[in-house]
Amino acid sequence: MKYIVEHLEEDLHEWCRLEYSHMLDHVGRAEPANLIFTNMHAPIVASLTADTGKHPHLERLRGCLPTSKDVTELGIPFDRICLLDMEATQELSPEDADKFDYMLFGGILGDGYESADRTSILRKLGFPSRRLGPIQMTTDTAVITTHLILEKKQPLDTIEFCDLPEIKFSKHESVELPYRYIGKRNAKTGKLEPMMAPGMFEKLKRDNEEDLFNLNM
Ligand code: SAM
Repeated sequence: MKYIVEHLEEDLHEWCRLEYSHMLDHVGRAEPANLIFTNMHAPIVASLTADTGKHPHLERLRGCLPTSKDVTELGIPFDRICLLDMEATQELSPEDADKFDYMLFGGILGDGYESADRTSILRKLGFPSRRLGPIQMTTDTAVITTHLILEKKQPLDTIEFCDLPEIKFSKHESVELPYRYIGKRNAKTGKLEPMMAPGMFEKLKRDNEEDLFNLNM
């Protein structure tokens, strides 16, 4: 199975970079080229494919296949591509692995409780589609969940999720993330915690400190 992420953001923000390298840790572990990033600006593609080490922050994404072509330009028959879409009427199941060769995701940053539904840009193209439950996941969560269902044969309803987790930075500071994550049990507390991209907690903490700083200016 190959995973296509159609990049729909202007730039490759830190949030995207962290999510994209998290996907690579899971679905690209054996073969990074199983992960294809489409619709990327040419300079981003160049920086991901250059071997000069000039862009250390992109180093972890090396080996995947970035292209400035969009998903319609890859020459793949549409009926072999399945769009993962919250609006789809059928849930993804392990049997779908035989029906499709490519899974397609919107490379879109989550936009909170009121979704702008930018996935509709891909929906309009007419791909068959499947849902991963009714709650908005981050793109890396959607990719890793799809991998668990299709390649580890774990049905959706057996996967433990952690919804809208509250991330605590200190006794008094926290943020609620309005997304669904795969849950992992904390061995000490027994609590279900969100499986976020490595480095994401630190990024959120930095953003929170910046917000507080700006508030006090
Ligand atoms: N607010 C968004 C929008 O504008 O459409 C949702 C984007 S979500 C962060 C990024 C991608 O993850 C979606 O385009 C979709 O491919 C996938 N995704 C997220 N949650 C999903 C779900 N519950 N079912 C199926 N796909 C999902």
